[in-house]
Amino acid sequence: MTILLDGKNLAMLRERELSDRVAALRAGNGNQTPILATILVGEDPSSATYVRMKGNACRRVGMDSRAITLPSSASTETVVSQIDQLNADPAVHGILLQHPVPAHVDERVCFDRISIAKDVDGVTSHGFGLMALGESAFGSATPAGIMHLLSHYGIDISGKRAVIVGRSPILGKPMALMLSNANATVTLCHSKTVNLEAEVRRAQIIVGAVGKPNFIPSEWISDGAIVVDAGYHVGGVGDIDPAGLLDRCAAVTPVPGGVGPMTISTLIAQTVTAAERACGRS
Ligand code: NAP
Repeated sequence: MTILLDGKNLAMLRERELSDRVAALRAGNGNQTPILATILVGEDPSSATYVRMKGNACRRVGMDSRAITLPSSASTETVVSQIDQLNADPAVHGILLQHPVPAHVDERVCFDRISIAKDVDGVTSHGFGLMALGESAFGSATPAGIMHLLSHYGIDISGKRAVIVGRSPILGKPMALMLSNANATVTLCHSKTVNLEAEVRRAQIIVGAVGKPNFIPSEWISDGAIVVDAGYHVGGVGDIDPAGLLDRCAAVTPVPGGVGPMTISTLIAQTVTAAERACGRS
């Protein structure tokens, strides 16, 4: 029987546990309410929606959020200066710079300005390097959320052939390293991959992280595969064509309700951990 990797339900369960941890922080000596600061540069409606959803998730577990909105004309220096202020503010435990920023802003410079202790979205080069080496670090929220989902449903990763389609710094690349650290044998595909179909056909774990609706045809996916679709597009479509997969695969993430809720839940969980560390509780 196919396992439905239900991220929505798991995120709800996790929120109960996070609410308890937040309540303990608020009741503690320091009377600390964890705060996630979000920075949105520009007016992209999807990005604005994602930031709003993250603020709502904070409130559901009793945390606060601080929403900073900068105009699309903001320079790299302006964003960096905003990050510096948040780094220096002891009331702020986590910083999220919503990706993508406008093209004239140097996203890497901005990401790398975030203090490692507050890098709850796992976007800094420093955090990436630590994660890659198997050291303690907040993981990039989407792949870390996927790892949590696979673990919760008891999916055995060790020794499996994993194929990831897409190698972005926030998704495909860290996903490859996390799966490798969990002892999968990993192939990381991208736009220059020759014969993508052959690569996907060999996958025992397939992760769609390409950003193109229904880009991976369901016929390419082997019977018994574990299918993780990180893509999300207008109309609730993912990167992988889901036709027939529920009948013949070992496990499948729904779109929506699979990876998306796990991303937000991981961001919130990592912010709570950052707050616990700031209070000397973790
Ligand atoms: P991205 O930065 O645009 O990266 C896309 C990747 O796909 C690149 O590595 C690119 O290769 C590769 N690619 C493009 N065309 C290809 C082709 N024809 N064959 C093979 N590979 C190809 O995207 P992203 O930010 O990683 O996002 C990917 C998807 O995940 C999007 O649908 C996005 O909405 C979704 N997403 C979801 C969440 C969530 O919380 N659910 C979070 C983040 C992203 P090159 O490197 O060679 O250019």
